[in-house]
Amino acid sequence: MAAATAAVHVLPIHSIAYSQSVSGASTEIEFLKGVGPVRGEALRKETGVSTWEDLLNYFPFRYMDRSTVVKVRDIQSDAVYVQLIGQLVRLTESGDGRRKRLDGIFRDESGDMELCWFQGIKWLKDNLKLQQPYVIYGKPSEFKGRYSIVHPEMELLETARITTGSPLRPVYSSTEKLTRLGHNSTGIARLTLQLTEDLRWLNETLPEEWLDRFGLMPRSAAYRQVHVPTGHADLDQARKRLKFEELFFIQLGLGREKLLKTRQQQGVVFAKVGDYFNTFFAQHLPFALTGAQKRVVREIRNDAARGYHMNRLLQGDVGSGKTIVAVLAALLAADNGFQACLMAPTEILAQQHYQGISELLHPLTDASGLHFRVALLTGSTPKSKRQVLLQELERGEIHLLIGTHALIEPAVKFSALGLAIIDEQHRFGVAQRAALWNKHAIPPHVLVMTATPIPRTLAMTVYGDLDISVLDELPPGRKPIKTTWTSDAARLRIFQFMEDEIKKSRQVYVVYPLIEESAKLDLKHLMDGFESISRRFPLPQYQVSIVHGRMKQEDRDYEMARFVKGQTQIMVATTVIEVGVNVPNASVMVIESAERFGLSQLHQLRGRVGRGADQSHCILVAGHKLSHETRKRLQTMCDTNDGFKIAEVDLELRGPGDMMGTQQSGVINLKIADLVRDRALMEQTRELALELLTEDPSLSDPAHMRIRMEWALRMAKNPGWSRIS
Ligand code: ADP
Ligand code: MG
Repeated sequence: MAAATAAVHVLPIHSIAYSQSVSGASTEIEFLKGVGPVRGEALRKETGVSTWEDLLNYFPFRYMDRSTVVKVRDIQSDAVYVQLIGQLVRLTESGDGRRKRLDGIFRDESGDMELCWFQGIKWLKDNLKLQQPYVIYGKPSEFKGRYSIVHPEMELLETARITTGSPLRPVYSSTEKLTRLGHNSTGIARLTLQLTEDLRWLNETLPEEWLDRFGLMPRSAAYRQVHVPTGHADLDQARKRLKFEELFFIQLGLGREKLLKTRQQQGVVFAKVGDYFNTFFAQHLPFALTGAQKRVVREIRNDAARGYHMNRLLQGDVGSGKTIVAVLAALLAADNGFQACLMAPTEILAQQHYQGISELLHPLTDASGLHFRVALLTGSTPKSKRQVLLQELERGEIHLLIGTHALIEPAVKFSALGLAIIDEQHRFGVAQRAALWNKHAIPPHVLVMTATPIPRTLAMTVYGDLDISVLDELPPGRKPIKTTWTSDAARLRIFQFMEDEIKKSRQVYVVYPLIEESAKLDLKHLMDGFESISRRFPLPQYQVSIVHGRMKQEDRDYEMARFVKGQTQIMVATTVIEVGVNVPNASVMVIESAERFGLSQLHQLRGRVGRGADQSHCILVAGHKLSHETRKRLQTMCDTNDGFKIAEVDLELRGPGDMMGTQQSGVINLKIADLVRDRALMEQTRELALELLTEDPSLSDPAHMRIRMEWALRMAKNPGWSRIS
């Protein structure tokens, strides 16, 4: 209870008494019939289920459709899971040590097939019964026209029948230990069946009116359906209801945080647009802003003028022109008497920013009478210089401080920090953002810039408390890179194409994968490739460079420099060229074994070309036997140059867990909803949550009683939950 009140001070929610109504939910799992202390302990340890409510939320990971049983003879594909009923007629163990395997012959009235296991062999041998009817379930694999199943789920027909009369049977994940204690999937199904028989103790969390309005099943019915489904349609409805609830409460948390930061959190006010901004904008902009840049600058100006605290994520693909937006925002701060800082993840990036921005803002320095000052502070700033700089900073003489993590140190004190800009968000943790915040009595506006496109739905969940701006338009004059995908057989044509481009004085990259696990073989491929290219493009007419991670740094730099200066026409390399090179004359990127690269990596690599005025090309060379997923990756590269679209596909293919920048956040841990498939639901619940919070920020309307109670419960369980950002 104490935790609940401590956590809800954010937006006060009237304290409520709920202890009676939740006695069922928090009842220890031991007290469920059929569990007891020993099994209870095992459940806790192995699955994390420790209360009745936890068990409700231990969702089946799949359902077996018992309405269809196929015959051995009728198996025709290895694409779908099948269920069969028949008997084990033989079991043979072979091999030894780690190579051991167990083979079984399974027979129904239509024929025989093989089953096979590589793990848990001893237990299987002791427990599987010959000549007794089993229901088996698994994914067939084909070998020479015959199908077999590796590691099928096996269950005696007798027990399978007892569990439920429904055609859909839940499949739960279990462990060897739990299985030994009788809690294999069926054992767990028995527990959930029993638990869901009487759910009077379970609270409804959504208003009655919403259930009608959105066509949602009551909560207890939904839990019952999910564990003991009566059919596909009912199950879908149940899952939808539970997903809705899960996403809604996440969005409610994020929405509250956002309201808190914007509505309630006072921000410094950038009321006017003054000489710094106007002079630069009218006289010294080196190019016309793109529509997207103008829009984002406007968004920032509006935000900062309102007196609310700005917390904005600026997303834009590499080259979309984020820097100028940051610079204009810093000028706006200066116009209103505030300082700004720009934090970059590495020393090199900080230096590049410093050089580029100093040049850009040079017209605003002393000569103009405006005295705008930019300074650089990194770990390697000499001590004496650093001391002077810190003093100037504290006296307010520096307008824009650029640097690395060094900016966060306590010794760095601003006279009036009004804007903190962070480049490349994903490398900075939440704590670092907070440290910047604390550098001023009223927290500075925060602008986070990232080149890693984060799909909108994901951004909404992970950074739901931030406003999002997108630079979705590249500066004019860049031609989209033409991408094609071919196989090794097209080698001669690729060489011919390279030759044609080189004749037009262009340069070419040829990239090979080189990963630690297969370094030796990869290196061989790279060297073989280098040799055949050198043979096809011989000296003295052609010069070919090679660069890889195993070379000495100075040799690498030397070769790279030759390529940059145009002394070599072809650069054969591994992914070491991914970062930091800028050769506008290079117009062809050939990526070998493209199937081995991830989508975002391919996109980054391709970004090395297309930097000049010429039409650029990217050729993906891939093998013949490609999985569906790989084909999709390569096709996506051919279809689009848009980093956001690519990120969306990447998210679909890989799932959110792997996406950059999401690991540090705990929010992604969804139990039932799916970030990719449930996008629409996510947007719907987000709107609903924001609407609700606008209308009734403290949730004190009696109509919102259920939501308020559930919220308080969640806060009590996890008080830190709303503080993510
Ligand atoms: P990123 O978003 O990757 O940080 P930059 O801000 O470094 O991109 O901009 C990439 C390049 O494009 C720079 O050379 C910059 O000067 C140029 N640029 C940015 N905006 C425009 C524009 N509106 N028109 C023409 N060139 C632009
Ligand atoms: Mg940049």
